[in-house]
Amino acid sequence: MTMPKIPLVAVLGSPIAHSKSPLLHGFWLDRLGMKGYYIPVDVTPADLEEVLRNMPKMGFVGANITLPHKERVLSLADRISDRASKIGAANTLSFEEGGKIYADNTDGIGFMENIRQNASNWIPQKGPAMLLGAGGASRAVVMSLLENDVPEIWITNRTKLRAEQFVTDFGARLKVIDWAHADQVLGDVTILINCTSLGMSGNPPLNIILDKLNRKTLVTDLVYNPLETPFLRTARDKGCDTIDGLGMLIHQAVAGFERWFGVKPEVDQEIRDVLLKK
Ligand code: NAP
Repeated sequence: MTMPKIPLVAVLGSPIAHSKSPLLHGFWLDRLGMKGYYIPVDVTPADLEEVLRNMPKMGFVGANITLPHKERVLSLADRISDRASKIGAANTLSFEEGGKIYADNTDGIGFMENIRQNASNWIPQKGPAMLLGAGGASRAVVMSLLENDVPEIWITNRTKLRAEQFVTDFGARLKVIDWAHADQVLGDVTILINCTSLGMSGNPPLNIILDKLNRKTLVTDLVYNPLETPFLRTARDKGCDTIDGLGMLIHQAVAGFERWFGVKPEVDQEIRDVLLKK
């Protein structure tokens, strides 16, 4: 009698010790009483391809990919989802027949599910969204906003050229706002999203003046350390509903877990508490 294989999954990055993903997936496996392991693996760029080619032979069914490999992994994948290709980066891999690598990006799903769970009254189609920042995470957020029929996406970035590239890559629903004047248009957006790394512990705070912010605007931050950034606190003080970035981190993991282990895990307060206690 052959025993069923225990599925293995890893998160590959360098450095990797800080990753919350092993705790997150390990907690879900335990809570669901499932067999499986999820481990952090420190992999240098030079070793990435060899590691990926060998993982399926060792019983790995998939992997999460984090810095610095999220873009590079696309060139090693055999099949790439449309959204990962449009975003230009992947964070979730599944190993298919013969060890073939399927690369996907679930950051945009994570972003939108976090909003759905915490602000069910926000209607994507109702008006413009505004993004602060035009880095890798912004690209995933833009994709999810476009997929959810947000009519206009206003984007501002310290380096304007990067924001302008978004118009080329994502089309006419995108409009670039000058970083120096971003505060002037805040009254007209339905959602304001910080996609910069400003406000993260160890970084300076985001210095956009929020005086013109409408209290009906939903405000969210991708940064989750600290959980309530100075940006979110100011918005909350103005009467806005706010959503922190931890939910996005948890929700982006749901799709991978379901694909690898076959069950969709719950996102609830308990899992947030587990991650916050670390
Ligand atoms: P990234 O590609 O390095 O982009 C960083 C962004 O921050 C760029 O827009 C950059 O502007 C801006 N920035 C950095 N320093 C700045 C400064 N001093 N003044 C003005 N703008 C500045 O990073 P990323 O991968 O997009 O990640 C952005 C943030 O989102 C990080 O804090 C990351 O931890 C977080 N994140 C959270 C989740 C989640 O699940 N919650 C997922 C992904 C990312 P320039 O282009 O001008 O440099």
